[in-house]
Amino acid sequence: MVFGPFLAGLIIGVIAQVGRGRIGVLWFVSTTLGGYGAWFILHTMMAEAQPARLLDQSFLDAMFLAAAIAAFVVAAIVLFTLPRRASSRPTFKCPHCAELILAEAKVCRFCGREIAPLSPTTVAG
Ligand SMILES: [Zn+2]
Repeated sequence: MVFGPFLAGLIIGVIAQVGRGRIGVLWFVSTTLGGYGAWFILHTMMAEAQPARLLDQSFLDAMFLAAAIAAFVVAAIVLFTLPRRASSRPTFKCPHCAELILAEAKVCRFCGREIAPLSPTTVAG
């Protein structure tokens, strides 16, 4: 399970990129580093507390797994606590509830009322 933190980072990166509109690579790198960092801290703590257990390969694997899960959970919490990143697509204010919605929207996602189509080509021509 040496690759545990790496896999956790990979999954978080994909979720961040695809599901949350964030920069997946950054999330991948920070989650992976966080996982190995957690493993390093665990390892250091065990080296002081019970050095004999570090000779056990399955115990080392379990530490990788624990570090991977910890990094994954922390990253997932942070990822889903942060608001979904505002997309770069044009937005405008809903005339009914004044919330910011996508310019292409036909129905406001906040108040559910219909929006008269606001097409730039119509404005221009
Ligand atoms: Zn609205």
